[in-house]
Amino acid sequence: MVILVTGGTGYIGSHTVVELIKNNYDVVIIDNLSNSSKDVVNKIEKITGSKCKFYEADIRDENALDKIFKENKIDAVIHFAGYKAVGESVKKPLDYYDNNVVGTIKLLETMKKYNCKKMVFSSSATVYGNPKVHKFDETIERGKAVNPYGATKIVIEEMLENLYVSDDTFEISILRYFNPVGAHESGIIGENPNGVPNNLMPYIQKVAKGELPELSIFGSDYNTKDGTGVRDYIHVVDLAKGHIKALEKLDNKKVYTYNLGTGKGYSVLDLVKTFEKVNNIKIKYKFVDRRPGDLDCYYADTSKAEKELGWKAEKGIEEMCKDSWNFAKNM
Ligand code: NAD
Ligand code: UDP
Repeated sequence: MVILVTGGTGYIGSHTVVELIKNNYDVVIIDNLSNSSKDVVNKIEKITGSKCKFYEADIRDENALDKIFKENKIDAVIHFAGYKAVGESVKKPLDYYDNNVVGTIKLLETMKKYNCKKMVFSSSATVYGNPKVHKFDETIERGKAVNPYGATKIVIEEMLENLYVSDDTFEISILRYFNPVGAHESGIIGENPNGVPNNLMPYIQKVAKGELPELSIFGSDYNTKDGTGVRDYIHVVDLAKGHIKALEKLDNKKVYTYNLGTGKGYSVLDLVKTFEKVNNIKIKYKFVDRRPGDLDCYYADTSKAEKELGWKAEKGIEEMCKDSWNFAKNM
């Protein structure tokens, strides 16, 4: 089977390409390198010993998509390409709608044209908005978006459901990620954002490397065990494996939606302390005000993915912290 991976040189995409190759899929990547670099393709080859085809192109470029679908018999698409920085999305909402929503429309139009009807889509726990419970399961309705990035994920999820109603030969799986962290055990690929990171683990990595002086912990007075925010961190390799399971499960009975998390919540301090312990490094931190828009505590109910996909995250936060540092220290 030939799988087109949009955003395949990015953080989650590259780990998923490795798992696809390990499972004997042929992979074609399209990425415009707006948030990744071309040598990830060589790194994937180094890990797997296999080549994958790479097109440097934008998913909004219909001619480029046409060329890819003409040159390859694409059976299914795993769609990662998009912008993901929450803060930036507030400043540049039109860019986010254009890249994420318009990009997905162009991709789906081309898929229709070439009768490719299978898609696994990268969504996010952010689509739940701010429900009253901490444990999020898939029966909770999509909430109100808290930022333009979240809004694009909500719009795309709705669009995919509408598309299926109009044409029930589409086979679609929507995966809602919780907080992906960690890196491939080889230390060859991982997350390396440009500039000052927004997310917790990349920030900790930079403090550990001495590139940033200290971590600011946003809020110490949440109603959680130690006052800091609680999230469901998931190892990116476990997450990547979830995509293979979702791909295998695709059929046209309905649009499937799954949470991908571990089902466990850890606080910011849990993550910092575990990082310090397993890597034997001190992370300097200070407490500052809460970050606007942050929820106090949430984690995934993973029972649907376990039952229907036969998938369960296997790696704990110690491994997440170890692999994150193993990658970061060599960058
Ligand atoms: P990433 O930025 O590392 O990867 C995205 C890739 O897509 C990058 O390589 C980028 O160059 C590429 N890209 C962006 N726009 C493109 C376009 N128009 N055409 C072609 N390529 C384009 O991000 P990631 O962390 O790997 O996230 C992948 C997906 O998962 C995104 O859709 C993101 O919204 C979603 N997601 C990520 C997280 C997270 O915390 N990392 C959480 C939930 C959902
Ligand atoms: N966080 C923090 N300092 C940082 C970045 C994040 O204290 O520099 C906290 C944030 O408030 C949240 C958790 O770490 O409780 C995870 O935040 P992240 O931005 O990684 O992911 P989010 O859950 O917001 O998508």
